[in-house]
Amino acid sequence: MAHIGFIGLGVMGKPMAGHLIKAGNRVYVHDKVAERAKALEAEGGVACANARDVAAKVEIIFLMLPDTPDVEEVLFGKDGVSEGIRPGSTVIDMSSISPVATRRFAERLGAMHVEMLDAPVSGGQAGAENATLSIMVGGKDAVFAGMKQYLELMGKNIVHIGGNGDGQVCKVANQIVVANALAGVSEALVFASKAGADPAKVRQALLGGFAQSKILEVHGERMLRRNFTPGFRVCLHQKDLNIALQTAQELGVSLPGAASAQELLNAVCADDGADLDHSSIIMALERLAHHTMG
Ligand code: NAD
Repeated sequence: MAHIGFIGLGVMGKPMAGHLIKAGNRVYVHDKVAERAKALEAEGGVACANARDVAAKVEIIFLMLPDTPDVEEVLFGKDGVSEGIRPGSTVIDMSSISPVATRRFAERLGAMHVEMLDAPVSGGQAGAENATLSIMVGGKDAVFAGMKQYLELMGKNIVHIGGNGDGQVCKVANQIVVANALAGVSEALVFASKAGADPAKVRQALLGGFAQSKILEVHGERMLRRNFTPGFRVCLHQKDLNIALQTAQELGVSLPGAASAQELLNAVCADDGADLDHSSIIMALERLAHHTMG
């Protein structure tokens, strides 16, 4: 049994921390919404008032927070991890955040003799609940080897991509693919519908050919049923595409597809859609076509 910390108990973090508890570990939990930590006490977790208290009790700390500034605050802010952590400990950040900032955080922790892995995930709420997440890891070989047993309690497809930040680079790549696929599926369905064909039949036919994809299957169905209950919220995908576009600018890489998908998500957001599922991107294209799929 290991003593483990888990900070950030939202849609994803709550079930992920639950798997660590169920496996027999002593898990110290914290969220800025205190009731979320309290709720995990019923499952066997130990609620802590702040990140410093979590860090003082454990040698392995997981983070599952929304964005880069949240991770920075929890690690290095007042009552943060760095105030309580002991040399020799490991921080595993499973949030989706900036790869550039991640490398900076790993250096700052390294100066305190603390190791870091970035381990963002794909697979959504269902993947978190069923412990079937795909996990993309950046960090040293030896640290990954030591921590893999804990990642295996939360995910199935666990790939060590490279050094610090490379897990986040992989997650950005994942979000570029998903954004382009969502926009592509939306364009195809709106086009087919305005041309007078049944978009449901079109999707059915495409699923058997070269245009087949998970997005056409899962999100294509959501679009046809107009089921935009999240799922993965528009505002979180905007956050990920901001990271993609900003990092691409720093690297001198052009991402025209991701940029245009971001513009479509901006339009959904402007129409009060920030908390809808990202498959609602189709609504922006429907407006441009002056046509709603029948
Ligand atoms: P969420 O908003 O549901 O949960 C985040 C939690 O962090 C909240 O409970 C919040 O109170 C807590 N928090 C924020 N700042 C804090 C602080 N300073 N101190 C302590 N707690 C703090 O978000 P989520 O959907 O669980 O996503 C978490 C991360 O996982 C994001 O980076 C997201 O992009 C990524 N992700 C989400 C999904 C998904 O389907 N929801 C899928 C893959 C990856």
